[in-house]
Order: sequence, then structure tokens, then C-alpha cells
Amino acid sequence: MDLVLISSAYNGLKVAKDIFSGFKDLQVETAALERINDAVKKVGEAQDAIFMLREELFRLQEENNYLKQQISDSDKWADIIGQYQLVATAGGAVVFKSNEEPLHFACPSCAQSKEIHILQDNRLIVGTFTCTKCKAQYPVKPQETMQPIKMQGW
Ligand SMILES: [Zn+2]
Repeated sequence: MDLVLISSAYNGLKVAKDIFSGFKDLQVETAALERINDAVKKVGEAQDAIFMLREELFRLQEENNYLKQQISDSDKWADIIGQYQLVATAGGAVVFKSNEEPLHFACPSCAQSKEIHILQDNRLIVGTFTCTKCKAQYPVKPQETMQPIKMQGW
């Protein structure tokens, strides 16, 4: 049942109610008038029920559309995160690593929000990478040890 069908039923009942209400203006016996009033009341109740059904159907359609969108978004995310695996790097960071080239790391914090943001190498001796979104830093590479500078010619 859709909204158009419910609207048609509602309008049909409105016409019936108008017709019954028109009978009240005719010269009729008291018993007949009571039955007409009863019919008008019953049609009015049916109209109210149809109106409530229409509201409920509208609400359910909205909810259905929302849930379909949620499922679609969830499927897309499963495909995206499926291209990564959670790894512990040589520097001790726990981050997502891509399964395909070009190999890269992605921020685990942003992944909680269903977003992939690639970590960029800070090119520092401490081996940290930074998330382009949340700016979190991860010790992806092991810290480089300082090599003593060899002075030549001294
Ligand atoms: Zn991040």
C-alpha cells in the first residue's frame, strides 16, 4: 500500500461523509436521522484511521530509506577497509597498512570514523608519520641512531 492509495481511500471516505451529511438536510424520520448520524460518525472514524495510517506509512518509508542508506554506506566502508590490514610497524605504531601498491599507512583513529587518511612521513630521525586529517603522529619507522660525524683532515 502506498501513499497515493491511502490518499484515495481518505478522499473516498470524505465524499461518503459529505453524502451522508447531505441526507440530514432531507425530511426524514427520527430513526432514519439517527442511523444517518451513526453512519457519518463511522465514516469519520474510518477517515481518522486512514489519516493515522498515512502518517505511519510516511514515517516507515522515511525510516526504510534511512536504513537502506546505512546499509549502502556500511557495504562501501567494508570494501574500503578490506584493502587494509592492521599492523604493528618497526617503530612500534599500530596502524593500517595498504594491501596494494603504492604501499602506505592509514590513520587508525580516523578509521574509527570510517575515513581513510594516509599517514605522511615527517622525514625526521624519530621516524614519525602524521595523519593528514587529525594530525596524530605515529612512530612508524624505528628511530635512527645518530652517527658520530667523522671529521676529516683534522
Ligand atoms: Zn587521523
